[in-house]
Amino acid sequence: MDLSKSKKGTAAVWGGEGDLNTKGAVTSPIVNSVAFSYHDLDEWHHVATGKANGFIYSRNTNPTVAVLEEKIRILENAEAATAFATGMAAISNTLFTFLTAGKRVVSIKDTYGGTSKIFLDFLPHYDVGVTLCDTSDHDQLEEEIAKGCDLVYLETPTNPTLKVVDVQRLSEAAKKVNAIVVVDNTFATPINQNPLQLGADLVIHSATKFLCGHSDAMGGLIAGNKPLLQKIFNFREINGASLQADPAYMIARGMKTLELRIERQNTSALKIAEYLKGHAKVKHVFYPGLETHNGHDIAKKQMRGFGGIISFALDGNYDMVKKFLTALKLVHLAASLGSVSSLAGPPHTTSHVELTEEQRKQLGIPESLIRYSVGIENADDLLQDLEEALAKL
Ligand SMILES: *Cc1c(COP(=O)(O)O)cnc(C)c1O
Repeated sequence: MDLSKSKKGTAAVWGGEGDLNTKGAVTSPIVNSVAFSYHDLDEWHHVATGKANGFIYSRNTNPTVAVLEEKIRILENAEAATAFATGMAAISNTLFTFLTAGKRVVSIKDTYGGTSKIFLDFLPHYDVGVTLCDTSDHDQLEEEIAKGCDLVYLETPTNPTLKVVDVQRLSEAAKKVNAIVVVDNTFATPINQNPLQLGADLVIHSATKFLCGHSDAMGGLIAGNKPLLQKIFNFREINGASLQADPAYMIARGMKTLELRIERQNTSALKIAEYLKGHAKVKHVFYPGLETHNGHDIAKKQMRGFGGIISFALDGNYDMVKKFLTALKLVHLAASLGSVSSLAGPPHTTSHVELTEEQRKQLGIPESLIRYSVGIENADDLLQDLEEALAKL
């Protein structure tokens, strides 16, 4: 069956499976081999020079990692894909592959904390021009792109206030100046959004989050066209930020239930967002699925579902946040997101702790903000848990 024509849930289960010679095993094995041997030296030479398919050394390619790469390639409708040790490895390798001295990148202020650090603390030292625009100001983004740039880096929805960026509109602006468009699709997942279909050139995932889905393995993935992927692969091969077979297996296993989990999380998150919106002790709810959300119209245009992450501000101060979060029973108070179990935390002391009060204000992150990653628990239980915790305030 041609999986590129099948539905996402089917491709997530069957993608990349069955290619290995495993005597009929119904799951692909974990190949923990550093190197791959050849009886025929000519064959070895052909593989080494790219004339034949095969594996040589696992820093470069590995059969288990290849299964995972094939899954994301199909789910993002891409020509090629490659895996990394973490999401940040995928992001930094991409940026350092294309942004050499004298180049310019245009991005948004609300990128993931680690990505933002690359823009602010690292790239300027390599003589790369960095312009970060207000995330919701598409006119400013278009203006900065039109001035000329080499790479446009987007993320949507953003962390933690779920701002939505119009990928199609900004990709069109980028094409006019021949800039490469990169989109971090971690929050949406390929079930809800496919940036390449909206005109982007490369799509990145922290596979640590929804793709793995169980908070037990880290990884990063990039998909896009072959020439761009080849450049990134060449850099990663030498940079060495490769994914190991064990976490690759865990992530591929998690991905088999991706569609089920995301459908559940989409539905539960919308229910919870609507509930919180009507609650007297909640001042504001950020969720792209709410009609009152600033980015709802763009989200409706480019997403098939609105995702499992909500953030909301309590009508109170940080002491109230402490009281509320410790009263919740069905969440881990922890970093990360996109897991089967619900997770919550205050960006004020976690993901955005290193920013000044003023910077947080600029990003619209009040001290009473809570990021809530909806798990696959029954939504009625999650609602009851939230209700009981809010009643204690
Ligand atoms: C977590 C995350 C990353 C970084 O991924 P790691 O696997 O932790 O390195 C990048 N982008 C987004 C949106 C994330 O949530």
